[in-house]
Amino acid sequence: GPILRAEAVHKWYPNGFQALKGASLSVERGEVVVIMGPSGSGKSTFIRTFNALEDFQQGSIHIDGRPLSADLRDIDAIRREVGMVFQQFNLFPHLTVLENLTLAPVLVRRRNRAEAGRRALQLLERVGIAEQADKFPGQLSGGQQQRVAIARSLCMDPQLILFDEPTSALDPEMVREVLEVMQGLAADGMTMVVVTHEVRFAQQVAHRVVLMDAGEVVEVAPPQQFFANP
Ligand code: ADP
Ligand code: ADP
Repeated sequence: GPILRAEAVHKWYPNGFQALKGASLSVERGEVVVIMGPSGSGKSTFIRTFNALEDFQQGSIHIDGRPLSADLRDIDAIRREVGMVFQQFNLFPHLTVLENLTLAPVLVRRRNRAEAGRRALQLLERVGIAEQADKFPGQLSGGQQQRVAIARSLCMDPQLILFDEPTSALDPEMVREVLEVMQGLAADGMTMVVVTHEVRFAQQVAHRVVLMDAGEVVEVAPPQQFFANP
């Protein structure tokens, strides 16, 4: 079955605003799904429900067949299965690049520190940044920091990675290096849900493109069809 199945998700924020109005999405293993839509349409809220960063009040979400519930143990397990890359990188500024990658595997997955370090270096090589392993995030460019954040999400061996506008905070010359890393992951068969405004990435990498508007999924289609002139 699908890695992710979100059905008729409704979410109200505490102030009473309804951000999701019955949004649904299924994602198969190895699939790349791009979510587009106007600012404020609920894209970020929707994907944040997939790893329990946001709660929801109606509907259901299953990760690899398991329901996402309020159970805390459940949430820990889900966070291991579902990685996330944020617009603002969210690296720990006081830890080196390598320490940013080994922290969760050592603390959460109880991996041996040396083994976690070796694996982290492999992943830093994969995103082209192994030479920066002992630097601090603040010493890196935005594009390099985002590649570190991608490597960090890979450290937990997730089944699915969520990307929330991963290139929106980057200078234009750094957008491409991050998109190329993401394209490489897709080519390796990583399952990805990507909120982005990068039309070329959607056209070249997505298997399906989703359009959200006002808290609803209003269109789902392969990119050729999605971007075809009516
Ligand atoms: P998008 O990612 O499509 O830009 P968001 O999911 O960030 O949309 O936001 C959807 C709507 O929910 C927006 O109208 C936004 O202002 C609102 N919203 C987001 N976070 C909160 C919050 N914590 N409390 C109330 N409303 C919120
Ligand atoms: P994004 O980059 O996802 O669009 P925003 O700039 O919309 O983020 O929101 C930044 C933060 O402010 C988020 O934590 C979001 O939940 C919160 N937020 C957004 N809109 C509102 C709102 N109308 N009321 C309260 N909090 C909000």
